[in-house]
Amino acid sequence: MAKIIDGKAISAQIRAEIKESAAAFTARRGYRPGLAVIIVGSDPASQVYVRNKRRACDEVGFYSEAYELPEQTTQSELIALVDKLNADDKIHGILCQLPLPKHLDENEVILRINPAKDVDAFHPYNVGKIMIGDYDFLPCTPAGVMALLERSGIEVAGKECVIVGRSNIVGKPQAMLLLHANGTVTICHSRTKNLAEVCRRADILVAAIGKADFFTADMVKEGAVVIDVGMNRRADGKLTGDVDFSSVEPKASYITPVPGGVGPMTITMLMKNTLTAAERAASKE
Ligand code: NDP
Repeated sequence: MAKIIDGKAISAQIRAEIKESAAAFTARRGYRPGLAVIIVGSDPASQVYVRNKRRACDEVGFYSEAYELPEQTTQSELIALVDKLNADDKIHGILCQLPLPKHLDENEVILRINPAKDVDAFHPYNVGKIMIGDYDFLPCTPAGVMALLERSGIEVAGKECVIVGRSNIVGKPQAMLLLHANGTVTICHSRTKNLAEVCRRADILVAAIGKADFFTADMVKEGAVVIDVGMNRRADGKLTGDVDFSSVEPKASYITPVPGGVGPMTITMLMKNTLTAAERAASKE
């Protein structure tokens, strides 16, 4: 039987710490850390994320602004908003909810956000910093995974870490963070041969492919730590991970559930990055 890594509880613990630090910051500086969230169009999932982000800001005592722009927003209107927020002293973090509608150029938007306010850590400047291990901001989901491991007392150094998925927002930065923590890292993807065999080598397996219940017990080593980043909607509307929880759980030593594992950590890490951005900006005043 695996120990269940309770992402909700760990997330609540970290949010309480952020709240305390934010209150101290506000008392010291006379203003609150501030986050602006931009959403373009009316994708219901994105709207839920934005609502949750605002709620999290309220919970930890941050100032927040939400810009809900219509689907037909032009590139120049969006860039003008980013420029305005870049120049706004009340705003320390800017997040533009992706994906953007097809007619908009995401890359230009990411490049336009001041790297010092890039709390998603998507700007190439911050991506480069992650590569060399000199972090300003850690990308939220992989940072959430590292916090789950750390707070569960799971040592990474010297472990075989297998990450399945190589996206820029999850797989690749996750590999870097595990590498910096001295793991021996393998990254797998859709062209990997003998995937099950590679996965069975893992002491720590991170599943991030977006395919419901894909990872079954035969792909997992006895006693492995299994981190499920996947978030998939079943036909009945229920959320499920990439890992077939019922078959894998008896074999693993630790496992994250979906929901309630990695998911709650992502927004918490966003709050942490916003606080860091505010502290950095304040130290330069
Ligand atoms: P992407 O679709 O950008 O990337 C998926 C990756 O999985 C790709 O690298 C792809 O390989 C690989 N892949 C797909 N199918 C297979 C397969 N059969 N075998 C091996 N590798 C495969 O997804 P994201 O990284 O954005 O997200 C991954 C999952 O994590 C999704 O379920 C998403 O919803 C979830 N997620 C959860 C978050 C959270 O807060 N918990 C935050 C962000 C994402 P290739 O590159 O070769 O195509």
